[in-house]
Amino acid sequence: MYPRAFHYHRAGSLKEAAAMLAQLGEGAKLLAGGQSLIPLMKLRFANPAHLVDLNFILGTSYIKEDKDTLRFGALTRHADIERSAAAAKIPILHDCAAGIADVQVRNRGTIGGSLAEADPSGDWAAVLSTLSTEICCVGTKGDRTVSLNDFVKDAYTTALAHDELVSEVVVKMPPQGSGGAFLALKRSAPVYPTASAAVQLTMDGDVCKDAAIALGCVGLTAIRAKDSEAALRGRPLTEKTIASAMEAARAAADPQSDMRGSANYKRALIGALVKRAIEIAVRRARGEPVEVSHIYA
Ligand SMILES: Cc1cc2nc3c(=O)[nH]c(=O)nc-3n(C[C@H](O)[C@H](O)[C@H](O)COP(=O)(O)OP(=O)(O)OC[C@H]3O[C@@H](n4cnc5c(N)ncnc54)[C@H](O)[C@@H]3O)c2cc1C
Repeated sequence: MYPRAFHYHRAGSLKEAAAMLAQLGEGAKLLAGGQSLIPLMKLRFANPAHLVDLNFILGTSYIKEDKDTLRFGALTRHADIERSAAAAKIPILHDCAAGIADVQVRNRGTIGGSLAEADPSGDWAAVLSTLSTEICCVGTKGDRTVSLNDFVKDAYTTALAHDELVSEVVVKMPPQGSGGAFLALKRSAPVYPTASAAVQLTMDGDVCKDAAIALGCVGLTAIRAKDSEAALRGRPLTEKTIASAMEAARAAADPQSDMRGSANYKRALIGALVKRAIEIAVRRARGEPVEVSHIYA
């Protein structure tokens, strides 16, 4: 289906885009990669009267490495992150970027658009919530920085005001001895996962000093599995502690039955994904280079 007619506006800067949103009102929407918005418009689930295009704003697509942070411009494409040597220093970021849909979607879709969309099945929010992540926002009333935990409010709902946009995503480098992994089960490449697990560990020998575990596609937002993390933190990683973390992850999941699988299936799946992701995260924390890809069923 064709989208409803709309007015097209090209922003020259992020500030100008914010001003356009304020001036055009609630009927205006930003266009980044268009990989969520355009399908919704074609289905007529979204019918904006005005589209404000961000794609021609210079200096909004970059990956910058500072001493202890990685900074991603909002318009940085998934494919740029997939190819980035700087992003690969945090392997869970590469796992995420390389696993999103197919080449076409990765070439267009942006990290800023993905976070702003807050799709319950979106991968970036789950992965970035296992790291220390801040979202820089630009608006007509000024700029502000919000932690990712405060940014995602609910399914398809963020802390952004109507005339505010994401300008940058800032990720703190994990401490020495850290490793992470992101795994998803998918029916095929160009679909969202049935379930996904993001695990980021900091190890001291065999003991897990710190753990962050997020579950994707099994709730209205990515779920931080706090009991699962507690099952690992301060303990040697043995079959028993990993089994406890799996069990706690299953309990934390809140899946819905849908075309991707029953709630029971997803709950069982999330335990298996968490176990595999822990095993890979530990190996990476020890410095072993481990290549992963999503699991296709
Ligand atoms: C077939 C298909 C499969 C997909 N599979 C996956 C998957 O497996 N995993 C996954 O994570 N994603 C998947 N996606 C979604 C993809 O990652 C999109 O890139 C992402 O959801 C939205 O990014 P975008 O840049 O395309 O945003 P757009 O579609 O342009 O915009 C999305 C929303 O965010 C707003 N927005 C955009 N940029 C900003 C900004 N800077 N500040 C504030 N608001 C902004 C827009 O107004 C709009 O409301 C899939 C998409 C398709 C079409």
